[in-house]
Amino acid sequence: MKFSIPEEVKNISLVLSSAKFENFLVGGCVRDLALGRKPKDWDITTIAKPEEIEPLFEHTFYENDYGTVGIVDETPRDESLRVIEVTPYRLESTYSDFRRPDKVEWGTTLEEDLKRRDFTMNAIALDVEKNELVDPFQGQKDIEKKLIRTVGNPDERFGEDALRMLRALRFASELNFAIEQETLEAIMKNAHLLEHISKERIKDELIKIVMSENPSIALGLATQLGLLKYISPEFEKGVGVEQNQAHAYTVWEHLLRSLDHAAKKNFPLHVRLAALFHDIAKPHTRKWLNDQWTFYGHEVVGAKIAKNVLNELKFPKEIAEKVVKLVRWHMFFSDTETITLSAVRRMVRNVTPELIWDLMSVRAADRIGTGRPKESPYRLRKYHSMIEEVMRDPISVKQLKVSGGEIMELTGAAPGPHIGFILEILLSEVLEDPKKNEKEYLESRVKDLYALPPEELAKLGLEARMKNESEDEKESEEIKKKFGVK
Ligand code: ATP
Ligand code: MG
Repeated sequence: MKFSIPEEVKNISLVLSSAKFENFLVGGCVRDLALGRKPKDWDITTIAKPEEIEPLFEHTFYENDYGTVGIVDETPRDESLRVIEVTPYRLESTYSDFRRPDKVEWGTTLEEDLKRRDFTMNAIALDVEKNELVDPFQGQKDIEKKLIRTVGNPDERFGEDALRMLRALRFASELNFAIEQETLEAIMKNAHLLEHISKERIKDELIKIVMSENPSIALGLATQLGLLKYISPEFEKGVGVEQNQAHAYTVWEHLLRSLDHAAKKNFPLHVRLAALFHDIAKPHTRKWLNDQWTFYGHEVVGAKIAKNVLNELKFPKEIAEKVVKLVRWHMFFSDTETITLSAVRRMVRNVTPELIWDLMSVRAADRIGTGRPKESPYRLRKYHSMIEEVMRDPISVKQLKVSGGEIMELTGAAPGPHIGFILEILLSEVLEDPKKNEKEYLESRVKDLYALPPEELAKLGLEARMKNESEDEKESEEIKKKFGVK
């Protein structure tokens, strides 16, 4: 087989060889070439030490603690060529904390370096000039059989670095490979070691799983093999939890099916995570009422749990905030038979215009994930057109045709909370009927409202704010209290 390697990569290899440093392509890129997939990045392993690699290239930087030198192309013709990593041969060393080698030691042969790698498919080297594979652990055979197998004794290898177990699951999802039996048994036996792994590393693997083509492969394996609670105990609570007749699946199965649909549709990370989290609180809120299970308030409690879990896993704030909003509002369309435009306007305001279409995507994933999609495509189209219609309408105080400054000018009022109350009341009227966003009308309302006794204005203002925020935000505080989430 002739492997197609970019000129840029070949050149780096040639520079190393010309300086008499043996070097090979290694890891994910060789695996992907053997599979006929396009490599995401290119890694080179070499006998040269960092201080020998650096002077050979113009733009380099130290990548990490493992002696990796990044060779930088600032104007690459392909993103995978921006940084090419060159790492000296390394030895496996002792891992007293199950996660980081106690010290990094250089190796002297390629075989030593391949031996410390995680799986046979990732331990194949490619001699660039000869176009020849070096494959001491029969990685090609496993690739043919679509099998994930550790290099050497799986029990020992997972003891050295427990994250490898999660990597095995991640590769199962990304490549649609099975996990070889002994490796599988060792994962089951060593699952508890994941406790020692940092949340950041777990999060990085979880993101890769969620972004893969079939996330439910990895998360389903995590469930069977006892790894799920080390990703988050909240996920495990949904396992086996039965729902009402509207659902063919248990809570956890439903979340996995929703996530798979989001992946199939190629939705972005925050939408996929919202699909995975949207019913996370159903086990907490489940109640038997009138001969069936109910989950009243699960979206309110769920938003809180999602926030805590994402925070614990150290997800970036921007991602977490989006996911939390989507979880909080995912129930919107489901139980309203006759939905009004003003309700849709409030929804756009709550979830923000930026996220409203993502909310529809979560809704679609949720619907497909039930296994018994009840909602007709007609109804979904109707929601779509209603959203489009209200997207042109004012939904915030800033969009009113009268400003706080103008209110003060008009009435001679001093700055203070009363200005905010007037604006909220005006907004509540405009959310109800956007035609009322007219200067003349609003100015006359300003005068009426300013004439009210201050307590009266404050009461109306607070009510309007509550209503503008959402129809049921009052209840949500009660719900959170009841289920003991903060
Ligand atoms: P991807 O396509 O996602 O980049 P990859 O196989 O390249 O997959 P990386 O995390 O980039 O995965 O790691 C590069 C290589 O380093 C792996 O192929 C493997 O040989 C080795 N490796 C990475 N992490 C570990 C680990 N925890 N233990 C042993 N070897 C590892
Ligand atoms: Mg890689």
